[in-house]
Amino acid sequence: MSQTLQAIRGMNDILPDEAELWEQFEDSIRGWLRAYGYRPIRLPLVEPTPLFTRAIGAVTDIVEKEMYSFTDSLNGEQLTLRPEGTAGCVRAVLQHNLLYDGPKRLWYQGPMFRHERPQKGRYRQFYQIGVEALGFSGPDIDAELIMMCQRLWDDLGIEGIRLELNSLGHPDERLQHRNALIGYFEGHAALLDADAKRRLHTNPLRILDSKNPEMQSIIEGAPRLTDYLGADSLKHFEGVQEFLKDAGIPYRINPRLVRGLDYYNLTVFEWVVDSLGSQGTVCAGGRYDGLFAQLGGKPQAACGFAMGIERLLSLWEEQGGKPARQVPDVFVVHQGEPAQRFAFKVAEELRNSGYATQLHCGGGSFKSQMKRADASGALLAVIIGDDEAAANEVSLKTLREASDQQRVAYDQLAEAIGELLFDWEDDNGGI
Ligand code: ATP
Ligand code: MG
Repeated sequence: MSQTLQAIRGMNDILPDEAELWEQFEDSIRGWLRAYGYRPIRLPLVEPTPLFTRAIGAVTDIVEKEMYSFTDSLNGEQLTLRPEGTAGCVRAVLQHNLLYDGPKRLWYQGPMFRHERPQKGRYRQFYQIGVEALGFSGPDIDAELIMMCQRLWDDLGIEGIRLELNSLGHPDERLQHRNALIGYFEGHAALLDADAKRRLHTNPLRILDSKNPEMQSIIEGAPRLTDYLGADSLKHFEGVQEFLKDAGIPYRINPRLVRGLDYYNLTVFEWVVDSLGSQGTVCAGGRYDGLFAQLGGKPQAACGFAMGIERLLSLWEEQGGKPARQVPDVFVVHQGEPAQRFAFKVAEELRNSGYATQLHCGGGSFKSQMKRADASGALLAVIIGDDEAAANEVSLKTLREASDQQRVAYDQLAEAIGELLFDWEDDNGGI
């Protein structure tokens, strides 16, 4: 016998119980994004590979080892499953000239793909919500993006997420700091691991982001980018902090926060929790004013963040978030051929009246159908036998509390159900 096929490692099925939690979360984020004036954009999952090598940077974890890239066998084009959303979003904005009449606030969500070692909170297909504010150059929008994250944590009732903040300055400041870093690490060459040695002359800033415990003490003593920031960068950084203080949002400046993608400048931030271990960053973002020009467009200020939905939802569940199970209002059972025909008509009519209705399919005794009705979580059963069908009536039974079965005429059914559901809601404080 052949073995059943399995999903690819690190690419998960999200089964109904969990998917209902996702839907509930997605419903709540739409209102949240609208409240800040963000409009949706939907982007392809596959993009030309050079988009990512140019946007993210060739010497980054993502481009060096995490991308799912392949050659289109029909035309030889180099393609990549998107590892993140910002590059594609900026590409689309440039391609359609979306900033022709001023700045835009955009958001998207969907799967991203990275070839990483799968573990809790780290998958090969994972989901992000990306939020991008394009064409705004001041520190106000950076602060607003951070404040909107705080509101989402509050809306979801999530506690214990802390904000880490840093400034990467302007490219010329980063260059001076880079030279100082290279000098410093060259002086400690014997202590560098293989990754750091390789990055020393290509991307020394990323050495600061190393997760290798043996590297931590030399990283501790490395020159700090903050000491190389000029007046303009400092003013921007202080501006962001002022708004955050006004909003009462606590933060910690982390000089080692450099982010894993090359396109950032000035403000960078991460929202981190301790309970998810080394998968503790739930949301990360910052300013990327250089990216438009890097992708061949006219320079534009830009700032945004992405949050990992799996990490956020596991945190939410850990702190008591539960899906409200989506149950039908009514379950229709029936036996006999005229009854079945009538049941179809009744079920459609109930849906016309706005009731979520599950019609039993597949036959079986009334007893077994009533078991299904009960398991569905429906509040009411509509029972139709041939004599109900002949009389153009149905029997109604409440499933969540004991009550007498009642006979109701077809044309009074919607009203009778309305009353029963209203009473039930009244007694139970909402469904
Ligand atoms: P990490 O340091 O954890 O690898 P990152 O810096 O690579 O994260 P970003 O590219 O900033 O992550 O992506 C934004 C967010 O997307 C992360 O903060 C995280 O919540 C989520 N994320 C990133 N990679 C994964 C993954 N492989 N599986 C699940 N979520 C992820
Ligand atoms: Mg990563």
